[in-house]
Amino acid sequence: MTAFATLPLKPALLASLETLGYTAMTPVQEQSLPPMLEGRDVIAQAQTGSGKTAAFGLALLQALQVETIRLQALVLCPTRELADQVSKAIRKLAANIPNVKLLTLCGGMPLGPQLASLAHDPHIVVGTPGRVQEHLKRGSLHGGGIQVLVLDEADRMLDMGFSEAIDDIVGRIAKHHQTLLFSATYADEIRAVSGRVQHDPVEVTVDAPVEARPAIEQQFIEVEPAHKLDALAQLLAGERGQHALVFCNMRKDVDAVAQELDRRGFSALALHGDMEQRDRDEVLVRFANRSCSVLVATDVAARGLDITALPLVISHDIAHDPDTHTHRIGRTGRAGESGLAITLCTPRERPKAANIEEALGTALPWRTLKPAPPRGKTLHLAPMKTLVIDAGRQDKLRPGDILGALTGDAGLDAKDIGKIDVFATRAYVAITRALANKALERLRAGRIKGRNFRVRPLG
Ligand code: AMP
Repeated sequence: MTAFATLPLKPALLASLETLGYTAMTPVQEQSLPPMLEGRDVIAQAQTGSGKTAAFGLALLQALQVETIRLQALVLCPTRELADQVSKAIRKLAANIPNVKLLTLCGGMPLGPQLASLAHDPHIVVGTPGRVQEHLKRGSLHGGGIQVLVLDEADRMLDMGFSEAIDDIVGRIAKHHQTLLFSATYADEIRAVSGRVQHDPVEVTVDAPVEARPAIEQQFIEVEPAHKLDALAQLLAGERGQHALVFCNMRKDVDAVAQELDRRGFSALALHGDMEQRDRDEVLVRFANRSCSVLVATDVAARGLDITALPLVISHDIAHDPDTHTHRIGRTGRAGESGLAITLCTPRERPKAANIEEALGTALPWRTLKPAPPRGKTLHLAPMKTLVIDAGRQDKLRPGDILGALTGDAGLDAKDIGKIDVFATRAYVAITRALANKALERLRAGRIKGRNFRVRPLG
C-alpha cells in the first residue's frame, strides 16, 4: 500500500487525512487518485467500503478554488442516505480548507429551505438526480462552472430509473468537466452511460480478494436438500440471526423459504423483483428498522438494499458463480465490524463450490452442522414492530410530528421509538415490540398534528 503523502495533494487535505487516521491508500484510491488528480475521467468498479468516497472527495476538493464563489463540483447519489454519508465524508476531508460551502439537495425534502440556502452558490452539491435536475431547471442551481461531476453508485441510480435525469443534468452543466463514475458492476448499461458522459476514461477495477478482508468469516456447510431449511433455521436461531440476509437463487424459493421461516417463529420477509414498489419499500423499511430480522432475497432484489454491515449473510443456495458469491458475502463485515457469511451447499452443488474455491485461490472453510435436538416452536421475533400511518409527506407529516405524538399524548419514551420513515402517502414507525400495542392504541385514540389518521400494525 502506498502513502497519501506520495500524491500531489494540497497540504490542507493531507492534514485532514492525518486527522482521520488514513495513512495508506486503499486499492481503489491507489489506482483512481493519480488519474483523477491529473484531471482524467475515471470509471471505477468499487463497492461500499472500498474507500471510494474519500477517493472522489479528495479529487474534487483538490480541484476546488474556494475564492471562486460558484458551483464547482456536483456529486449524484442514488439515495438520500448515501448523499448524507457522502456529504459528511467530504466535510471531514474539507475540514482544513476554510469557507467551503457544501449543500445536500435530495428529493423527499421540502423545496423551500433548499431554495433559501441556494441564494448564494455553494461550491459543492451532493444530491439525488431528480432534485438536482429540478434545481437546474428552475435556475436555482447554476451548473455553468462545474468542473467535476461524480456519479456515485451509478448502477443503483440506473436501477432506480435515474438514467434520463442524469443525461438531462449532464446537458445542463458546463460542457468541459471531469466525470468520475463509480459503480459496483460494469454492466452494459453502465458502459453505455460512461460512453455518453465520459471522454477516454481510465478504467479502475479492484478485485479485492475475499481472503484479504479479515472482517468476514466464511463457512461452508454441506447439507442434503431435504435438510436445508432445518439447517437454515438452526443457524438463524443463533445470536447473529437477529439481523440476517438469506439468499436464494430463485424467486419461488424466496417466498417458500420466507414463509417457512415465518411458520417457525422468525420475523422473516421475502424480497424479490416481482413485488410492487410499495411492497418492496415496506419490506426494506421493516428490515432496516429491525422489525424484520431475516430478509430472504434474490441477488437482483438485494441490490436495492442500503444495509451492508449485516452480522450474518447466509446463502440458502450456493451462488451460481464466484462473482455473485463475492457480492453476497460483501454484505457483511465492513468497516471494522466482523461478519459471518455461511454458504449451504448440497452434494450436487459441489462443483459450484469448487469454482468459488478456484476463484478464491484458497481452500474453502468447510464445517459440519450438528443437527439441533428437536424442540417445540420457539419464537425468534425481531426486537421492533412497525406501525403504519396512512398519511405522509402529502399531508405535510414529518418524522418529528410522529415522534411528538408518541412521546407527548401517547406517553412513550423516545428510547422505545425506532426509525421513522415518511413516504408520500404513508409513514412507518418502529416501536419496541412489547410496547407496540400500547403505542397503537394511543395513536388511534389521540391525534397526530391535530388530526386523526388511520394507524395499523404490520406483521
Ligand atoms: P467508502 O467505501 O467510501 O464507503 O468508505 C469505507 C470506509 O473506509 C469509510 O468509513 C472511510 O472512512 C474509510 N476509509 C476510506 N479511506 C480510507 C483509508 N485510506 N484508510 C482507512 N480508512 C479509510
